[in-house]
Amino acid sequence: MPEPEQQENYLLETRNLKVHFPVYGGIFRRKTGKVYAVDGVSMRVAAGKTVGLVGESGCGKTTVGRAILRLYELSGGEVIFEGKNISGLPESELRPLRRNMQMVFQDPFESLDARQTVGDILEEPLIIHGIGSPSARRSEAENLLLRVGMPESAITRFPHEFSGGQRQRIGIARAIALKPRLIICDEPVSALDVSIQSQILNLLLDLQSEMNLTYLFIAHDLAVVKHISDHIAVMYLGKIVEYTDADTIYQKPLHPYTRALISAIPVPDPSVRNKKTVLYGDVPSSLNPPSGCRFHTRCPVAFDRCSKEEPELLSVSGTEGEEHLVACHLVNS
Ligand code: SF4
Repeated sequence: MPEPEQQENYLLETRNLKVHFPVYGGIFRRKTGKVYAVDGVSMRVAAGKTVGLVGESGCGKTTVGRAILRLYELSGGEVIFEGKNISGLPESELRPLRRNMQMVFQDPFESLDARQTVGDILEEPLIIHGIGSPSARRSEAENLLLRVGMPESAITRFPHEFSGGQRQRIGIARAIALKPRLIICDEPVSALDVSIQSQILNLLLDLQSEMNLTYLFIAHDLAVVKHISDHIAVMYLGKIVEYTDADTIYQKPLHPYTRALISAIPVPDPSVRNKKTVLYGDVPSSLNPPSGCRFHTRCPVAFDRCSKEEPELLSVSGTEGEEHLVACHLVNS
């Protein structure tokens, strides 16, 4: 990602982030290849803002989120958090930093321990970080529940007694328990009914303005991130293919993949007909990504150069104001 002209206060930055997973095969379980899950992702998230990270399943977006939290080892590149390079830090030095970096998971049914009461779930991070007396922690757990729109009485109950939306509220309460600066939201509404999704998104927006939270919001469709994101990064097969502010992505998408994702968003007014760009086939395997532009096997406007030469993520010339980066030979030629 090129240097921005105006220096903003970035809470999080990734520089050429890579996560490659070894693949083992044969009777001797020898290393036979690598999955290039994340292959050179550079992006920045300004303090108090939200970057939406969007792409189909298998594009590597969840791996980016986990690599930022150092839940996966990096194969290359750097993660800069609060101005500090945390890429090579040992676990003992990461632990205090993790207080400021939390995650909300996709599946509220699996992310909460079914054997713990809600009170135990919310107090656990406080206990791990040695915060407060038992009575202060209980009272903080009650406050957290109220903050996410749950009754205090939920404290003695178990996760299975709640609906999916309520469980996600409990997951969010746990994520804010340590008053973090950054929350990685990994598809936090994908497993919920559409009617509940907007309530959870509104809750996240309210908490952001109350607590000045910074979000990296991971989603597989652009409709979900539309109202919550300040900037959007579109990812395909381990790489970012387009990045700009949220309004520009929806009004002037430039990468053919982004255009296809936008054309797939349902339009509520039946009299408005959207010209759909249909993407055929699935995302290719990241074990053996296509040569040149990784999107060329599905791109409706691919030409000769696309399979031979990889396009760089470059600033689009002629745009003013917000930076607009695109990786496409057609756009950058
Ligand atoms: Fe399509 Fe070629 Fe652009 Fe890739 S570089 S998105 S294949 S036109």
